[in-house]
Amino acid sequence: MSDAREALEAATRLLAAAGIESARADAESLLAHELGTGRGRVQAIALTGGPVDPVVLARFARLVERRADREPLQHLTGSAGFRTIELAVGPGVFVPRPETEMVAQLAIDAASGMESPLVVDLATGSGAIALAVAAEVPAATVVGVERNPAALVWAERNAVALALPNARIVPGDLADAVPELDGRVDVVVSNPPYIPDGMIPRDPEVRLHDPADALFGGPDGLDPMRAVVATAARLLHPGGFVVVEHGEHQGAEVRALFPADSWHPARTHRDLTDRDRATTTRRR
Ligand code: GLN
Repeated sequence: MSDAREALEAATRLLAAAGIESARADAESLLAHELGTGRGRVQAIALTGGPVDPVVLARFARLVERRADREPLQHLTGSAGFRTIELAVGPGVFVPRPETEMVAQLAIDAASGMESPLVVDLATGSGAIALAVAAEVPAATVVGVERNPAALVWAERNAVALALPNARIVPGDLADAVPELDGRVDVVVSNPPYIPDGMIPRDPEVRLHDPADALFGGPDGLDPMRAVVATAARLLHPGGFVVVEHGEHQGAEVRALFPADSWHPARTHRDLTDRDRATTTRRR
């Protein structure tokens, strides 16, 4: 038997040296994953200096090396928490981000005030927003649309695992999605790709492991957003609500994509780090 505390400390040093800010938390998550338990239990074991099976520690050490090579934590554990749900993620699908939880919140708040809302999530990726809305607004019917075949597999797998009776995932492009719902939708939500093509994401986890087509949105990053706005205009009935995630410097540009003849004045919302992150408005 070997000591969990020492193993965690060594792992934390290695991950910190690899430039990972959340080194200790990541080490705890990886050990928790190998032990089939939660981080709280790992912290308790570390406090009491509890012994851990050397076979488990060897597997943990291998995961720590991969994390030090900047494989995303969520690819190593195979899951990402998003609001109240856990999503299976891995190569081929965009890892859901904490800031997107707030985008989902705006959709949830809008849908919660309605009787039996129809919600469409364009470019759902792992299904994060669609499935979170379905989980938190049982009265809603939610359709998640995804074009990328690899991502679609993850979204469908997550929908099956969560078994929400009010959610379905369909293949489709955000530009011409679900025409059978034209004029009938209450809420459109989307976290489309929005990084300008020429920008290189700083974190290797993003640059090397998130699918490029979930990140990049043309010369100014907003080509997919223009398609989202057009699709939202087609899907929403008058009074219908739209919320889109965007980059921290894109608020004014995104608001300008909603012309006054079709939309009420748009509003931009900040995330928990006080950066512009989402814009909302209603269909006239
Ligand atoms: N938020 C992403 C990132 O930080 C950018 C693309 C997106 O979310 N649509 O990498």
